[in-house]
Amino acid sequence: MWFRSDLRIDDNPALSNAMQDGATAAVYFLTPEQWCKHDFSPARLSLMARQLDDLTEQLASLNVPIIIRKCADFSAVPAAMAELIVELGASKLYFNHEYEVNEMAMSRNVVKKVRQLTLQTVACHDQCMIEPGKIKTAQGECYKVYSAFKRAYIKAFDQYCRDYYPCPQPQSEIMLHSDKQALDIWLAELERDLVDWRSVWPAGRDAVQNQLNEFLQQAVSDYHEYRDIPSINGTSGLSAYIAVGAISVLECFRAARQLNHGEIDTGQQGPVSWINELIWRDFYRHLLIAFPDLCRHKPFKLDTDKLPWKKDRQLFERWCQGKTGYPLVDAAMRQLLQTGWMHNRLRMVTAMFLTKHLFIDWRWGERFFMQHLVDGDFASNNGGWQWSASTGVDAVPYFRIFNPTRQSERFDEDGSFIRRYVPELAHLSAKNIHQPSKEQAIQAGYPLPVVEHKVAVAQTKSWFADLTQQV
Ligand code: FAD
Repeated sequence: MWFRSDLRIDDNPALSNAMQDGATAAVYFLTPEQWCKHDFSPARLSLMARQLDDLTEQLASLNVPIIIRKCADFSAVPAAMAELIVELGASKLYFNHEYEVNEMAMSRNVVKKVRQLTLQTVACHDQCMIEPGKIKTAQGECYKVYSAFKRAYIKAFDQYCRDYYPCPQPQSEIMLHSDKQALDIWLAELERDLVDWRSVWPAGRDAVQNQLNEFLQQAVSDYHEYRDIPSINGTSGLSAYIAVGAISVLECFRAARQLNHGEIDTGQQGPVSWINELIWRDFYRHLLIAFPDLCRHKPFKLDTDKLPWKKDRQLFERWCQGKTGYPLVDAAMRQLLQTGWMHNRLRMVTAMFLTKHLFIDWRWGERFFMQHLVDGDFASNNGGWQWSASTGVDAVPYFRIFNPTRQSERFDEDGSFIRRYVPELAHLSAKNIHQPSKEQAIQAGYPLPVVEHKVAVAQTKSWFADLTQQV
């Protein structure tokens, strides 16, 4: 069983099928250079390493040994896999699909290599609740509008949803010893990071189950009301665990559905609204399969590449460091830098600010997010950025631009989120904190606004309008 972004023993189709088939050993390849090329953040790498460490213990409880080897990048994996298969005397290789272009190419190369050894490979689907490609329009195409996708998805859910796999029973004998030396070395290297990610993002089966249970018991019932308020823990905080595969999205869905007495889109508003977000995640993965160019730095709406996106490093740096002079934007960016996570409402606000106020290429922001997010996930990140930049599938219309000050007044009414991350403004009243006066900013040592909202927005709209006229 070849593990990748599926670091769990519960609801892991490939693991369960392998163990059902016969005596099973697990393999994992550390590919640090590839992860660096994919801009994985230190927070995400730390979580992955610790989750993998916990997985070795969970597998031990199932009597499944794990061999962890280091390869520089994906290109080295097929040969390393072939070598290991011969060493282990394995007869079949099980794994779960991944849908990004490089990951798919690696799977194909591994399969080719393994078949040269005349072995069978079995690939399962675990990343989505419904396998990409199953939900199609009447013309047999992938939906490009989320609401239509969701309608079709819910209608077909019980027909197409993949099977759920409870944790398998332990196998009877241990065939060989685990070898996790490569992981131990890597863990020690990661520990040198100045930030203690272990305490911010605890890993392991128990930690993840606790996070899910706590959310279901405490917050999900009010999710629809509080999910947009960044100062409140109103969302699940599970994205990082879903991203590394510490928990499956199907498990999350089933728990919410059960709480909602088996209903998906009717019933209690909290769970229904949460399920809607889980389906968004599947939507973005389905799009990757239908439009692989999304993985090649291409906008979905190709014309938008004609927009005169700015390549202004200084301006970009101010956004990165949370020094734009727009308190909510700055608080959000500082939350990202300090915790490796940012609230969904603020991801939209900051992404729209970068692309529509500073008019900087959305790919710069997409990359910066990946480099810092603990939940950095290509499909969701790319989807969120292209939505905000109006370059993507079912994106926000270009003329509907968030006013960061209005967003702040609406979603951080009393300013408590800003106070937490922009302490130099903490003394300001709830009225002034969203938009400090020039005097207040100077006195607090806080930057003046980097652009003027009205001017920036008018310019952006005219660039997009020119583009629409050209088409
Ligand atoms: P909850 O509100 O509890 O939602 C539950 C789960 O549903 C999440 O854990 C996540 O897996 C999924 N989900 C929720 N909202 C979305 C969404 N809009 N799109 C896709 N899936 C969603 N999410 C990532 O997991 N990784 C990313 O790299 C990422 N980058 C983003 C970039 C931008 C510009 C934007 C606008 C959104 C991005 N999102 C990303 C989506 C969303 O912001 C996060 O999933 C969410 O904030 C995670 O917090 P949570 O687990 O508490 O979410």
